[in-house]
Amino acid sequence: MEVYKKAQTVLLADDDPTLRMVAAAHLRKEGYEVVTAENGHRLLELLVEYEADLIVLDVDMPTMNGFEACKRIREFESCKNLPILMMTGLEGNSSIEEAYRVGATDFIAKPVNWTLLKQRLKFMLRATTAIKELSDSEARLAKAQDIAKLGYWHWDLKRKVLTLSQQLQELIKFPSTQIDSVDHILDAVVSKDREHLRQVISLAQTLPTSFPTDFFMRILVCQQGKRTMHVQSSLECDLHGEAIAIHGTVQDVTERVNAEERISFLSHFDRKTHLQNRESFARSLDGMIRLYQGLGGVVTLVLLDINRFGRINDIFGHTAGDQVLIEVASRLKHCLGTFSKSDKYVGTEICRWGSDIYGVAVHAKRSSDQSGEIPVALLATLVEPISANGHEVSLTGCIGYAHVSDRVEDTDTLVRNAETALRHAKRQGRNSAHCYHSGMSQASERRVLLEGDLQKALEENQLYLHYQPRIHAAKNIIVGAEALLRWQHPTLGLVSPVEFIPLLEEMGLIHNIGAWVFREACKQLKIWQDMGHHEFVMSVNLSAVQFRDVRLAQEVRDVIQNAGIQPSTLEVELTETSIMEDVSQTQATLMVLKEMGLRIAVDDFGTGYSSLSYLRSFPLDTLKVDRAFIRDLTTNDEDKSLATAIIAMAQSLNLRVVAEGIELQEQASFLLEKSCDEFQGFLFSKPISAEAFTELLTSWPNKPNHTALPSRA
Ligand code: C2E
Ligand code: MG
Ligand code: MG
Repeated sequence: MEVYKKAQTVLLADDDPTLRMVAAAHLRKEGYEVVTAENGHRLLELLVEYEADLIVLDVDMPTMNGFEACKRIREFESCKNLPILMMTGLEGNSSIEEAYRVGATDFIAKPVNWTLLKQRLKFMLRATTAIKELSDSEARLAKAQDIAKLGYWHWDLKRKVLTLSQQLQELIKFPSTQIDSVDHILDAVVSKDREHLRQVISLAQTLPTSFPTDFFMRILVCQQGKRTMHVQSSLECDLHGEAIAIHGTVQDVTERVNAEERISFLSHFDRKTHLQNRESFARSLDGMIRLYQGLGGVVTLVLLDINRFGRINDIFGHTAGDQVLIEVASRLKHCLGTFSKSDKYVGTEICRWGSDIYGVAVHAKRSSDQSGEIPVALLATLVEPISANGHEVSLTGCIGYAHVSDRVEDTDTLVRNAETALRHAKRQGRNSAHCYHSGMSQASERRVLLEGDLQKALEENQLYLHYQPRIHAAKNIIVGAEALLRWQHPTLGLVSPVEFIPLLEEMGLIHNIGAWVFREACKQLKIWQDMGHHEFVMSVNLSAVQFRDVRLAQEVRDVIQNAGIQPSTLEVELTETSIMEDVSQTQATLMVLKEMGLRIAVDDFGTGYSSLSYLRSFPLDTLKVDRAFIRDLTTNDEDKSLATAIIAMAQSLNLRVVAEGIELQEQASFLLEKSCDEFQGFLFSKPISAEAFTELLTSWPNKPNHTALPSRA
């Protein structure tokens, strides 16, 4: 590719037409493009039209002379550096002086020596180009410094003058670029850094080599506040090696430093709660344990989990959820603060352990101080309702905690133990705090084993149902059965539903297995009804998780239809605790089941917190009094009066009362006397297989225990 260099344009003004013609011819021969004007006025017009690289001006012209034209040209911003050559016909120095005064770059005397003119023009153009390149480069440098927020300084040690570059003066908004005493700069520096800088400056005056080559200082900049400056310097020496000046740069690195601080904050602290994060906490815990190894005492790791936090997010939204997390963090911090002030404690640490879990580490001076007062106090901070995003939120939590001991001195084991204790606490229910003990680990191992095997339990036919009869107390006949799930584990033998049902719930398997229980129980119910026991009622236990599953109603409907049974002969049992968990939702779901014609029973009554009158608002049919009230009925007077009161109140609410866990004749007799409606318990039969139950149905009332019952009308 060929590059054509654009010809440079010369604007030439002279009132002499011959000179214009000759000059133009000479210059064109040199490769210039030439435009001519007969006076200064015309020249100014042409200047607008043409982009001139050079101007040649005659001094003596009519209309507007050369001096005036030159002055006007210089008034244009774009012509400040345009080379102007004046041709002076006038004798004497005064016209030369005048030419420079009005802004001419150079002059040439008339009559013009054309060779000289051409040389002058060439030189002027080269010089202008060089100046332009220099000023462009300076502008670029200034721009770069602007972008980099960089300024230059020079400290003359002899004259004791500090000079700042324009950029630096603007950067720190200093009133001038010349500072006669370096100490003035101290006024701009934030008080914390002032003393250090003062020492640096005064030392540099006696020992310049001691001036640091690299340091940071914070300066208060007008309207911008505190800015962090990075100062770099180098020493300037004379020929004899004596320091004569120090010069260097100052760069505003505030944004970088802020970003670094933020990054460092985020790597140590939790963004939401501003508590330490888990990694940083683990390091603090390590430190605490090391201190304990020297000082003794006791180190405790507490893990606090907010119960059902996910529901807060679901119901009130994530903003409210975040506010709850922040408020809990602040309450826990405050609570811990009151302990750390006490001289019983060496130190405390707190962190956000996980999404809704907080970690607290405490080093108490004496091992007698491991009373668990901190876990209890932390849990108590949750009780007060939290106002979050316009909602009032009530919380409960669970705590698991573990101590460092002779056998546990490493952070990993301590953490594992506290986590085990927390899992244990969560299984025990809301607002419980549990301290780790080794039995928990064995339980955990068994849990892991069971969890692994539960997946295939149903496929491999390890699950089956047993049935326990329900006896009409007054008539002494079998009126129904409760279906109870069994798991025959290949190596562990029979596993209790009390142990594996919570696992099914946690693993999300309860729905499928619960549905299977329903199908099996209803099939069996149909068989027994077809044998002539038309009024026979089957009870099926429903877990809270299953109960809250939207698929429940439709599935129960399908099962009833497929089995061909009357819905009124199927009863679902819900524990008292699961009914009370979410009252308004419970009411709605129960209404749906009720409208389908099902019977509804409250199981394990007396183990939860509900009162009988509260249960009035639910569409219930049956109340099953928990075994705990029946067990000591014959020996404990309080239980006697409680059972009596429950039966009376339930009947006043039109509920059928079933007493669970009757093992003794005396218990049955007492309850019969109090008009309890139905019995269930080992006295009559343990839960048994369907075949055994069929046999029992046919052999009843020839069962030995039965004969022992008092005769009833
Ligand atoms: P539950 O519904 O209260 O069942 C009664 C429990 O008491 C049964 O324990 C039964 O064997 C036991 N029992 C009955 N009579 C006596 C007695 O006289 N003495 C003693 N000591 N115990 C007696 P099981 O079968 O171990 O079931 C425990 C719990 O597991 C049940 O309590 C129920 O809450 C749950 N469960 C059992 N099967 C299922 C099921 O299919 N689904 C759900 N969600 N839960 C189930
Ligand atoms: Mg039950
Ligand atoms: Mg029960």
